Amino acid sequence: MHQGQVELIHVCKSFDESIAVDDINLRIKAGSYCCLLGPSGCGKSTTLRLIAGHELASSGQIIIDGHETTHAPPSQRGTAMMFQNYALFPHINCTENVAFALKLRGVAKPERRKRALELLSLVKMQDYGDRMPDQLSGGQQQRVALARALQNEPSVLLLDEPLSALDPFLRIHMRAELRRLQKELGITFIHVTHSQEEALALADQVVVMDHGYISQSGSAREVFRCPDNEFVARFIGGHNVFTGEYQQHDGERISLLGASNQLYQIQGNLHGKPAGQYRFSVRTDHINVTHQADTLSNDNVVNCRVTDSEFHGSYVKLNLKVNDEQIEFNAHIPDHIFQQQHVKNGDQIWAGWDRQHTWLLDSY
Ligand code: ATP
Repeated sequence: MHQGQVELIHVCKSFDESIAVDDINLRIKAGSYCCLLGPSGCGKSTTLRLIAGHELASSGQIIIDGHETTHAPPSQRGTAMMFQNYALFPHINCTENVAFALKLRGVAKPERRKRALELLSLVKMQDYGDRMPDQLSGGQQQRVALARALQNEPSVLLLDEPLSALDPFLRIHMRAELRRLQKELGITFIHVTHSQEEALALADQVVVMDHGYISQSGSAREVFRCPDNEFVARFIGGHNVFTGEYQQHDGERISLLGASNQLYQIQGNLHGKPAGQYRFSVRTDHINVTHQADTLSNDNVVNCRVTDSEFHGSYVKLNLKVNDEQIEFNAHIPDHIFQQQHVKNGDQIWAGWDRQHTWLLDSY
């Protein structure tokens, strides 16, 4: 049976005048991988510390595996925390680091050594038990810290930016290891990150936070494909956000008039109040470009100038601006298509996308 269901009910945390976590409601399924994602200062780490019991909620309830733990000390929550800097004890070796809490609990030496070696094997560090922390690479230290966090058999493992100290190659390798470990153990992992890519790659549930609120919570695909609002669309990356004034609609087919007299065709449900300004997003990989407008068969066509281009390996990122510079957006063109198009910086081109690829955001 999976363990580690976590529920936050109307949880708030203030520090003097500042509100770090503002009335959040969140349910994390037992045995799932959850990433708390958001910009610096949005309240991710505070949320993690509230679940761990390293901070106490100003109001609201925290329920773990059906038990009210809002005011329980960290040791009685069934959680364990892995810190960003790993916090290994420098003067004892890896086996002793992993066994340290067992020693405090009075477990006999042979038994704690056996358990420490089992945990080191789980993170593939069984051959490094006698090494001191400063004789290990960053990635190896992290594995030992993980083994140490697991020695109390937590039902929820809390990870605060666990990959941020690693180089990009190791970060990708270690994130796959974290995912493997989470699946193997069947417990809940809650992982704080700034990185959209990391959250999308790892999480069953992505929780996007902004200014102490939860802006959206859902599967990685839901959050990426169907952002609830402008903040999520911009933060998750790979989306352009456009604005336009309502003109008319026919069922779910809506016309908006944007800056530079640009007419947009989008689709969505206006819920019976069709007036005012609307925002919508279009994914950067859903935009086509060409030198000849008559070769575009899209509902939306924009005449624009290429102001910058960046090679990203499998695609080229184009920065595009309408002449009066009121509209700016990006297109990601697969490299093999880009190479046939001979598009260069400064060219006046046409960009197009279909209304099926527009996503209606909030009105304002
Ligand atoms: P980062 O990614 O930079 O670590 P974060 O999203 O994890 O940011 P938190 O560390 O949770 O953000 O902080 C949220 C807000 O609460 C910030 O404005 C921060 O300054 C404030 N805050 C956090 N801890 C304290 C504290 N002990 N005393 C006062 N304010 C705090």
